[in-house]
Amino acid sequence: MRFFIAMFSHETNTFSTIPTDRRQFEARDLRYGGELLEVYRGTGTCLGGMIDAAGARGVTLVPSLAAAASPAGRVTKDLYEEVKARLVADLRGAGPLDGVLLDLHGAMVPEGLEDGEGDLLRAVRSVVGDALPLAVTLDFHANLTADIVRGATLVHGYKTYPHVDMAERGREATERVVDVVVGRIRPVTAFRQPPLLPPLGNQGTARGPMRRLGDMAAEMERAPRVVSISIFAGFPLADIHDAGLSVYVCTDGDPGLAERLADQLASAAWAARREFVHTALPVPDAVRQALEIDGRPVVLADMADNTGGGAAGDGTELLRELLRVGARAATVACLWDPEAARACCRAGVGATVTLPVGGKVDDRHGAPVEVTGRVRTLSDGRFVHKGPMFRGLEGRLGPTAVLDASDVKIILISNRWQTLDPEMIRFVGIDPLAEKILVVKSTIHYRAAFEPLAHTILEVDAAGLSSSNLGRFTFKNVRRPIFPLDDL
Ligand SMILES: [Zn+2]
Repeated sequence: MRFFIAMFSHETNTFSTIPTDRRQFEARDLRYGGELLEVYRGTGTCLGGMIDAAGARGVTLVPSLAAAASPAGRVTKDLYEEVKARLVADLRGAGPLDGVLLDLHGAMVPEGLEDGEGDLLRAVRSVVGDALPLAVTLDFHANLTADIVRGATLVHGYKTYPHVDMAERGREATERVVDVVVGRIRPVTAFRQPPLLPPLGNQGTARGPMRRLGDMAAEMERAPRVVSISIFAGFPLADIHDAGLSVYVCTDGDPGLAERLADQLASAAWAARREFVHTALPVPDAVRQALEIDGRPVVLADMADNTGGGAAGDGTELLRELLRVGARAATVACLWDPEAARACCRAGVGATVTLPVGGKVDDRHGAPVEVTGRVRTLSDGRFVHKGPMFRGLEGRLGPTAVLDASDVKIILISNRWQTLDPEMIRFVGIDPLAEKILVVKSTIHYRAAFEPLAHTILEVDAAGLSSSNLGRFTFKNVRRPIFPLDDL
């Protein structure tokens, strides 16, 4: 058996002013050909799982490309068209294929389009035809559309947030395509989009409404004719018609069952809608509480400045407050400011510098803060993920500096990356367990690795483009009415 394999992944925050261009992809991943098998083999990613399962099932993989960038604004038309054209050309030249495996996100918004994945799947189908088994893995934050459902034989969405099941979904998708190829299953699907736009803050699957929905789906999946169920919480900050929660059910040749289960899950999600509304602590309250708590480390989750949700990553509100109150043993991890990181590199370890930090991308993440501090360490920004997410994959933060302002340590990075792994603090020589306060720029993902080591976690409502306070945004394109933008 021969399967084509490719990854094209981006989560687009349409409120971001940072265009996602070739440079953003090169900073994360833009590689062509067989190299993708070497880089992703054995990693906790969908590609890793696909490669693993293909090996176990004796499937030959025909690798095309891997393209991913940190979430930000729309993917530029040039980059999107270039990658799509390359993928389509690879498909044409792939020779006889039995299946296609695509690792996509589901919330990619290229310039001039709303639904990147739907468009890509149309292009793929125009080459391989409608009959070839094709599976896509999608992020939990996919904004599922009818075009995606139509284009894919099978959809396998992550079931966890933090996303710790990526490899498992990749394996599952590969095995189900094998099942289709040998005629063991005949997938039929159902798809629902209740008018629900859950903010990110209460989307976590460890507790709350997504936990209950996930448990319901897991129970349903035990039925022999159910192939897979995915509940996508959706990405609310991609302001497109189809943004929001969706339900996908795939059964083996039983359309009635698929429709029935999809209805049950959509109704349950709708009934739980008010539980998705999220509240967090104002910045001064969060810092005061953190200092009062007897124990360490206290994690202050800077939920709204999560680059993983398309925020700038250079938000300053928490940093400003920590400096204002004279906090000690505090680390801000990690603040995206290539200019400040470069200035620290030029000054050298041990030098004292005064420079504006953060707040440079737009006016949605606080103003720059003038910081005087000592350059504590410098690094090329390369580390290996050790937490439950992306385990084994190399992270590249670019030139990285730790600026120490009276024991408020700021980790300045040059490539945007969410603080989801304590290794991002350790690799620059800071012991996260020794700190009183850790500011972590992440909405939910940090929990997988930081919950076990944190004394206390406080969720903070600072400024930023990944805020769970949807009242901070002006939506223009999402279908209306939709909860909680409209009180339904
Ligand atoms: Zn996600």
